[in-house]
Amino acid sequence: MHLKKRVLVTGGAGFLGSHLCERLLAQGCDVICLDNYFTGSKQNVAHLLDNPNFELMRHDVTFPLYVEVDEIYNLACPASPIHYQHDPVATTKTSVHGAINMLGLAKRLRAKIMQASTSEVYGDPSVHPQPESYWGNVNPIGFRSCYDEGKRCAETLFFDYRRQHNLRIKVARIFNTYGPRMHPNDGRVVSNFIIQALRGEPLTVYGQGQQTRSFCYVDDLVEAFLRLMDTPDDFTGPVNTGNPGEFTILELAKLVIEYTGSKSIIDYRPLPQDDPKQRRPDITLAKAKLGWEPKVALPEGLKKTIEYFDAFLRQA
Ligand code: NAD
Ligand code: UDP
Ligand code: UDP
Repeated sequence: MHLKKRVLVTGGAGFLGSHLCERLLAQGCDVICLDNYFTGSKQNVAHLLDNPNFELMRHDVTFPLYVEVDEIYNLACPASPIHYQHDPVATTKTSVHGAINMLGLAKRLRAKIMQASTSEVYGDPSVHPQPESYWGNVNPIGFRSCYDEGKRCAETLFFDYRRQHNLRIKVARIFNTYGPRMHPNDGRVVSNFIIQALRGEPLTVYGQGQQTRSFCYVDDLVEAFLRLMDTPDDFTGPVNTGNPGEFTILELAKLVIEYTGSKSIIDYRPLPQDDPKQRRPDITLAKAKLGWEPKVALPEGLKKTIEYFDAFLRQA
């Protein structure tokens, strides 16, 4: 007899997953955190191990999984270009085979399932900001394709399982998110800049730094996940989850230098291939259906993230 809600978080030992596990436990859920530790680490969830409602499981989502749960958050997938391009075939397999297995699991259990999709499904967008109705401008054969097309295919699978098997699905299209427990070496801009500034090294700005991104603090994003999972069954998404505040990469670099009090200079480097020029979520749908919008502004979130990396670097 199970009174508590049993929740599976795949990729639970990663950056977003570890924060999600924390929040679910705080809500009194029984949490299975599943991870193959490709980019995640036991360290990210070490503080949860003593909680009797928390279970950590080493498993790769590309293989079938037989557990009993009520809800599934499917986050397993390397998220940063350096990591997902390390083994592109494994990345596509994780998105596609992983989605098939988790959807098969959800189908057997009649469980509700949420997919962590991405703004990358919009590719290098020709519509700005991007509403969910925009189909995207994605290169199918480039270096980013294993991630973008893998995530697009996962979305297709989610919607086909819904149409064919009447599954209760939710799809969140996540825009750039940052915060404590980001991987220190994943090459993402926020962690790169903060670590470089704290070490007094030059901040590596790619191109002229005029490309834009919108940065969402992790606590805001996790709140959106929980609200999305609780929406009525007829709401599936896809729904954009992100912070609509738009900054150029150069502006971000200057903010990080200011908040760390660093003497670092800026080092301009070549722009990577297929690097999107602009990205900002249109969160009209999230506001209407989830009653949600981000609360943590970039300065506040950056300061918390800087504190985390400062402590992290002192320990290392
Ligand atoms: P992350 O790399 O910290 O977390 C991903 C986790 O998945 C890691 O713990 C990793 O070990 C695990 N994993 C990878 N392949 C696996 C496999 N085959 N089987 C089991 N576990 C596996 O990244 P994150 O930022 O926490 O991202 C979580 C999810 O959110 C990903 O699906 C990512 O695509 C999506 N997302 C994140 C962002 C962001 O800005 N952080 C933006 C868009 C989408
Ligand atoms: N699956 C799983 N756990 C389950 C049920 C299914 O991992 O509890 C996997 C299994 O590998 C299967 C996939 O999910 O191949 C898709 O399941 P589905 O029932 O849709 O398809 P089928 O079993 O017909 O392949
Ligand atoms: N970027 C940068 N310097 C870095 C890392 C990234 O200028 O050290 C740029 C990168 O070219 C991109 C933006 O910052 O335009 C965001 O990069 P990230 O890899 O964090 O996310 P994504 O490109 O997936 O949005």
